[in-house]
Amino acid sequence: MTEKGKKIKQTKDKEELEFKPKHIAELNNKLQTDANKYGQKYIDFLNNCKTERETVKYIQEMAVKTGYKKFDKNTNYKPGDKVYLNIKDKSIILSTIGDSKMKNGVCIVASHVDSPRIDLKTRPLYSDSELAMFKTHYYGGIKKHHWITIPLALHGIIVDKREKVIDVKIGETEDDTTFCITDLLPHLERMQDRDRMWGEVIAGEQLNVIAGSMPFKDKNENGDSKFNILKILNEKYNITEEDLICADLSLVPAFDAKNIGLDRSLIGGYGQDDKVCVYASLIAELQTKNNQQTTVSVFTDREEIGSDGNTGLASDMLKNYLNMLCKADINRYLECIENSICLSADVKAAFDPTWAHAYERNNCGYLNHGVCISRYTGGGGKAGTSEARAEFTRRIVNTLNKNEVAWQTSSNKVDQGGGGTVARFIANLGIEVIDIGVPILSMHSPYEIVSKLDAYMMFKAISAFLETNEI
Ligand code: MN
Ligand code: MN
Repeated sequence: MTEKGKKIKQTKDKEELEFKPKHIAELNNKLQTDANKYGQKYIDFLNNCKTERETVKYIQEMAVKTGYKKFDKNTNYKPGDKVYLNIKDKSIILSTIGDSKMKNGVCIVASHVDSPRIDLKTRPLYSDSELAMFKTHYYGGIKKHHWITIPLALHGIIVDKREKVIDVKIGETEDDTTFCITDLLPHLERMQDRDRMWGEVIAGEQLNVIAGSMPFKDKNENGDSKFNILKILNEKYNITEEDLICADLSLVPAFDAKNIGLDRSLIGGYGQDDKVCVYASLIAELQTKNNQQTTVSVFTDREEIGSDGNTGLASDMLKNYLNMLCKADINRYLECIENSICLSADVKAAFDPTWAHAYERNNCGYLNHGVCISRYTGGGGKAGTSEARAEFTRRIVNTLNKNEVAWQTSSNKVDQGGGGTVARFIANLGIEVIDIGVPILSMHSPYEIVSKLDAYMMFKAISAFLETNEI
């Protein structure tokens, strides 16, 4: 009984009663062709964008090619204008100005350009027992043992004494050299070593990287292998050890992203958390035209360590940008915040049958079943997260349904663990926000796996959100 005296209308069949996301391949054959094409371009993007700086550079270049102009707070923009704001080469925001006024709100999509990796320490280089090594400090939540005995590439920048920025990328071409963290052979593992927990397989301080093994040699002198590495770096980049302190250098997996499976339906590659959403957001933003609300596509750094820092979303960077778009008129800014909506675009753990115990099957995401909606993330009793209101959830669900976007839900098993996204920082500004993302296997490992159909669906979801929202 709904209202007094009225009976619930008899529903036609069982399917209409139940919410049951299907394998996308069952929905539409054309999707497969489009998803394959999209997937190939995405693989190329992944192989060019392993660090946040490389990703920001790529996004800016694509934006400029598409007609985006550097944002100027004193310009009066008109509908259809496209602008970008580069934040210290580590975050970037793209906008397409809409027909509607700023006070009516903007459509924000936030994804993150940083991924877990192994950073060099501030003073990295040393030698031990004739080997030259780098000390490291891991960045983001990693299972440390994933990062040993695999080829690593060195990416980043060094700023020399004349403040010239030197780009570093070693280990990405066929004949280039690579780096590696070693492990103990199984023969030498005592029983107590074998029984250690996975978090104790290798300690953070043991993530030391082999940098070389040859002694320093010149006419008069033989010396330590550390000096040989300094000599090589000096010849290659004209730098000394002090310059390594003024550097952002990271080790990332040296291998490329590739197809996975005999049916080539999946993509394996490093950094897909969150590049799969970054790419979807970028392509959707670049293609946006005739949009009602102004778009704000945020590609942020620092998510993997909690968003702190001047290029992370816990800072005021988004607030400042919206303020500038509102021409610093506080009243308009407040109205804008009130009416703005946001998709926090980030990957979700996909159900893995090998580790079924860690998932709650009713509420987790599955490969090939479309984008995952998460009304909240966090852990424990919904701590460390915002939560999308029922009203806003309905609005996004309707947008997805109307635009034939395949979607499902995702939330973690209670008390199994958890993690946050940038959603809470945007929600804390007062903006309506919901998490949405691509289901992914082996998240935070050097070789994460997504499905091409889901990746393509993410692009369709963001396009629908940016172009068809009625506020
Ligand atoms: Mn993420
Ligand atoms: Mn992550």
